[in-house]
Amino acid sequence: MSEIEKVIIIGSGPAGWTAAIYAARADLSPLVFVGVPKTQPSIVLPGGQLMLTTEVENYPGFPEGITGPDMMAAFQKQAERFGTRTRGEDIVSCDFSAKPFKLETSKGETVLANAVIIATGATANWIGLDNEMRLARSGGGVSACAVCDGALPAFRDQPLAVVGGGDSALEEASYLTKFASKVYIVHRRDEFRASKAMQQRIFDSPNAEVLWNKVVVDVLGEDTISGVLLKDTVTGEESTLDVRGLFVAIGHTPTTSFLEGSGVQLDDAKYIHLPSRGSKTNIEGIFAAGDVADSVYRQAISAAGMGCQAAIDAEHYLSQG
Ligand code: NAP
Repeated sequence: MSEIEKVIIIGSGPAGWTAAIYAARADLSPLVFVGVPKTQPSIVLPGGQLMLTTEVENYPGFPEGITGPDMMAAFQKQAERFGTRTRGEDIVSCDFSAKPFKLETSKGETVLANAVIIATGATANWIGLDNEMRLARSGGGVSACAVCDGALPAFRDQPLAVVGGGDSALEEASYLTKFASKVYIVHRRDEFRASKAMQQRIFDSPNAEVLWNKVVVDVLGEDTISGVLLKDTVTGEESTLDVRGLFVAIGHTPTTSFLEGSGVQLDDAKYIHLPSRGSKTNIEGIFAAGDVADSVYRQAISAAGMGCQAAIDAEHYLSQG
């Protein structure tokens, strides 16, 4: 078994790296589990959701924008400059019943820590089409975050499609109506699950149109999206819709399965429940930051802010001995 770490951080998105920067500067010598390399299946996507983001234009301090991977590389470099150590493994299970806390790695090793910061994020759900993922990775006009990408020049005054019928889909569609020439909402049923107020906003918008009972069965275009192939869920009929952007808003899945049996309290949607303001979970010494504990904002800047809080909370906790 390993020596006892002061603080282990699980996850390497904006929340994890910011927690590491603050913890390292507080002389806690944090150890970050970044997840296994991208080529292998991993619980945590190393670098987090920003690794799937091309241009980040809304993070303060980067007036010209920065790519998601470049931004995460800079966060890591800054964390390592102050003594952060990293391991390219997942944490697969946790025993928080006694101190020091025990965490099992994907290599079967047990590591010990006096405090743990969970920053494993949440993954956007995708439809699961090959061309959807190809164009999402290459920045070819497929995105899972309208707030992040919707204002990019490529989408301005263009026809766009949003998939989904929940609050996120309608909120994203409503946001996109400010930039797009037309926003199509593609929904697989004939009624929305979103709140009535959100629905009304869409119905009242002059450049939003709902396509009921439709699913996207393919994404068209080589380097950039030129359209989507739709299938009617009632008649089975296929049709093409010309759009220059596709925003998938069919929910998120928080990365919390490895916490099963750990005693960390989750909410109904499996996000970590934070009983009070700040980063403290229901277990003393276990903290959470970023999208894994935030189903509402889900932004790099809000995740980074939560990472800062978690490191300060962990430092206070450890100093109380
Ligand atoms: P959600 O409520 O789970 O809605 C997901 C939507 O995607 C549903 O309409 C679902 O269709 C559709 N969907 C799921 N899988 C699909 C697939 N494979 N293909 C096509 N469509 C698919 O998720 P969400 O909208 O992200 O919201 C999550 C939670 O956050 C909700 O509680 C929501 O109220 C809340 N939220 C609140 C606000 C706000 O208050 N401003 C904003 C955003 C989110 P079906 O309806 O047919 O199942």
